[in-house]
Amino acid sequence: MRIGIIADVHANIEALDGVLDALHKAQVDQIICLGDLVGYGPNPNECVAKVMEHSDVIVAGNHDFGAIGKLPADRFNAFARQAILWTQDVLTEESRKVIQSLPLIWDDGRTTAVHASPEAPEKWHYVSSEDAVFRSLMAMTSPYCFIGHTHIPAIFSRTVDGDMILQKGKSLTLKANQLHLINVGSVGQPRDSDPRAAYGILDVDESRFELHRKTYDISAVQKKMKNAGLSDFLIQRLNVGQ
Ligand code: ZN
Repeated sequence: MRIGIIADVHANIEALDGVLDALHKAQVDQIICLGDLVGYGPNPNECVAKVMEHSDVIVAGNHDFGAIGKLPADRFNAFARQAILWTQDVLTEESRKVIQSLPLIWDDGRTTAVHASPEAPEKWHYVSSEDAVFRSLMAMTSPYCFIGHTHIPAIFSRTVDGDMILQKGKSLTLKANQLHLINVGSVGQPRDSDPRAAYGILDVDESRFELHRKTYDISAVQKKMKNAGLSDFLIQRLNVGQ
């Protein structure tokens, strides 16, 4: 059983197509999407439809709820807000319905999927400080918890004694007596200085997680963003992965 995990697509259809193609070539059995299907990028409706078509599990991100008015636009910074308002204008009724139906968290006893943090999904905490990592690890109810939101890949583990470990490396054999909190990074707007689309594969039988990157046509997305009148800051950051 192999599960592909994607997050923070952000209306970037070129990056999403590249990642889905790679996941199908890797013959994953299931795809989990951790939210933020829309916001920032130029193809929100196409991304909602494609994620729906290919994913077995989808949870909501803050940008998804922002795009349907479920989260006020003033909760976002100026660049994100401009993109949210643009997205609200172009979002179809069908996409709105899909987003409206998304849960904040999903759990099957083995794997938890949540956009921001498992202890308070609705508060959209960034799991980036040591404190936040600790709170998330302590709130975990299944061996694997996948998160997105920061757009920065990271793997944290918790031992039976409650010690936290920041795991280094892009692939990892996950110990059975530990809990693992895994941020898979972002498909459509990476922020770890690597502009390639990020995604993860969990091999359940081998207890192995791998972080992957995929190059895609960034300039094609940037051209569409420019035509849509999206901000130059959002356009340029795709080049540097920041
Ligand atoms: Zn995001």
